[in-house]
Amino acid sequence: MPDPRPPTPESLPEARLLRTAVLLAVGSELTVGETRDTNSGDLARSLAGFGVEVAWIAALPDRLATVVDALRDALAAADVVVTTGGLGPTPDDLTREAIAAVVGERPAVDPGLERWLRHLFERRGLAFAETNVKQAWLIPSATAIPNERGTAPGWWVDRPDGCVIVALPGPPSEMRPMWEGWVLPHLIARGLGQERVTRTYRLAGIGESAVAALLGEPLLRAENPVVATYARTDAVDVRISARADGGRSAEQLVGAAEAVVLAAVGDHVWGRDGDTWPGVLGRELSARGWTVALVEAGTGGSTMRLLGDAPWLISSHLLAPGETDAPIAALAEQARKVSDSVVGVAVRTIESGEDTQVEVAISGPWGARETRQTAFLGGSEGRRRAGISAAAFLYATVRDAPPSGPEPV
Ligand code: ATP
Repeated sequence: MPDPRPPTPESLPEARLLRTAVLLAVGSELTVGETRDTNSGDLARSLAGFGVEVAWIAALPDRLATVVDALRDALAAADVVVTTGGLGPTPDDLTREAIAAVVGERPAVDPGLERWLRHLFERRGLAFAETNVKQAWLIPSATAIPNERGTAPGWWVDRPDGCVIVALPGPPSEMRPMWEGWVLPHLIARGLGQERVTRTYRLAGIGESAVAALLGEPLLRAENPVVATYARTDAVDVRISARADGGRSAEQLVGAAEAVVLAAVGDHVWGRDGDTWPGVLGRELSARGWTVALVEAGTGGSTMRLLGDAPWLISSHLLAPGETDAPIAALAEQARKVSDSVVGVAVRTIESGEDTQVEVAISGPWGARETRQTAFLGGSEGRRRAGISAAAFLYATVRDAPPSGPEPV
């Protein structure tokens, strides 16, 4: 297809950094629930990675007035508006009409695009229905975005105020390469996003609501830095993210929020950013050359699942609930002896009412340490938390141990 001249910063009416975006997914198949809008999520992730704030995402039916209204609202709110879908040849594909209406221009067939389109059909041995010519439409302020995998080129539209409208086809297999290969580089050339620094603290031994209570509403409601909590399967995460503002760098703003977060919940932190349990435990254990044997009872194997196939975990056994009532420390010591590992870990859960009682013991050359906790949930959720408790206790024990092992208890 013709290679359109890319828009360049110099040719733009107004230099405007592209910091905010609205994403519109067009297609009645989305609003009746037949298709899930995965496009907007993909685009949002990509834009967020560049520090672009996505103001909102909407799915819209194939109704011209609705799409026009949504485009107007989006342009009033954001620097970049990206639509996906509605670029096909049929009358209900009306994204082009909607954009033309909003910018007040008339679409016309672009001869270069039409030649490319007819040639494409010819090459594929397909009859060219005249309705297809709609896919060769352009408006004066639009540049065609090449589509190597389909028949619907996208549109890049520059607005006099420096805003950009990007229209991409709906099929993800067409949308994604067009976004990655063409749109994103052009947006970057225009000045996409802003520096955003993000840091995540990974917590154990505390629930998400307790974390939120300790952090307090003012911190969690602040717009910059943004502090948010997330309950993950292996941790409660606290994510701090900031952009430069008011003469302070993003790093400074994150640092200030970080100090507040650590003062409130620092005792529960076991990792940062991309840390995982096998990763952090592996660092501590391999620094000491220690191996671990695990035995768990009534956990459904939750500790083993959390630790993955770590090389330092040389054996793991799962006992049925109630299979043994031996003292937990004795189980840990037995696991250690039988497998000839340096450290033995035993975890046992007992459901009691709606809660789960969790016992963990860690034994080593220094003796054994144990802890008893209540996970305030039963069933699989209680068992999952038991696994986290075991990993956290193991981590605390190993981390605080001198190279020769903790003080005898
Ligand atoms: P074309 O006519 O070239 O297929 P189009 O731009 O007209 O492209 P639509 O007709 O709106 O796209 O959608 C075509 C198909 O793409 C849908 O049937 C669906 O499978 C997929 N699709 C559309 N929008 C989305 C979306 N937001 N997320 C995921 N898939 C989508």
